[in-house]
Amino acid sequence: MWRSSMSTASEVREFQAETRQLLDLMVHSIYSNKDSFLRELVSNASDALDKLRLESLLNKDLDVDTSDLHITLETVTPADDESGPRSLTVRDNGIGMSRDEVVDLIGTLAKSGTAELRKQLAEAQRSGSDSAATDELIGQFGIGFYSTFMVADTVTLVTKKAGEATGTRWESTGDGTYTLDEVADAPQGTAVTLTLKPVDTENHLHDYTDQATLRSLVKKYSDFIGWPIRMDVEKT
Ligand code: ADP
Ligand code: MG
Repeated sequence: MWRSSMSTASEVREFQAETRQLLDLMVHSIYSNKDSFLRELVSNASDALDKLRLESLLNKDLDVDTSDLHITLETVTPADDESGPRSLTVRDNGIGMSRDEVVDLIGTLAKSGTAELRKQLAEAQRSGSDSAATDELIGQFGIGFYSTFMVADTVTLVTKKAGEATGTRWESTGDGTYTLDEVADAPQGTAVTLTLKPVDTENHLHDYTDQATLRSLVKKYSDFIGWPIRMDVEKT
C-alpha cells in the first residue's frame, strides 16, 4: 500500500478507494456552500481543546500548559505587487494527534456518516439530480476535514500530541496519495494550512485571507464556540 522514501519516518501512502472517491467529489465540488470548510476546521479545533482540557484533568502526569487554550486563524497573502500562494491556517493548541492517529483519523474513511454520504451522492448522481439536491445531502451529513479540498489545492496538517516528543506532518493535494513526515519541532496541537485555490466568486470560492470575510464566517458558523478565536495576519 505504501512505499517509504529514505526511512520509515517519511512515507507516501495511498488513500483507500472510498476515501479517494470522496476526495474527488470535494476537489471537483460544485457544492455552493464551500465556506463551510471553516466551520469544520474550527469545530475540530474546538473538540481538540475540549479533549485536552479533559485529559489534563484526568491525567495529572500530563505535562501540558492549558492556561491559554485557543484557536488562531493565520493568513498569508503576497504583497500587492507580487503573485504567490495565499494560505489560511487554522491552529489550535489542543490535544493533537500521534502519527498513528493521523493515519487512522485523517487518512482513512473512518466515519460511517461519510460512507453513507458518498453512497447517497452516487445515487443522486445516477438519477440525474441537480446540484441543489447535492447541496442538501452534503449539508445534511457534514463533511468534516475533507471539505478543505473544496477550497485548497494543497492541505497540510502539522500536529503533535500532548505528552509526545515528535510531531507529524500530513500533506495531500487531494489526488490519490498523501505524505507523512516527522516534525521534530512542532508545537503541541494541530495546524491545518490550506494553500488556497484562486478566488472564483461565481463558483462560491471567496477570499479566505480577507479579514472581513473570515470574521463574518466565524460569526456565521462558529459564534457558539467556547474558545477564543484569534486572527494573525502576515504579508510576505
Ligand atoms: P469528525 O470531527 O466528525 O470526527 P472530521 O473529518 O472533521 O470528522 O475529523 C476526523 C477526526 O480527525 C476527528 O474526529 C479527530 O479525531 C481528528 N481531528 C481532526 N482535526 C483535529 C484537530 N484539530 N486536533 C485533533 N484531532 C483532530
Ligand atoms: Mg469534524
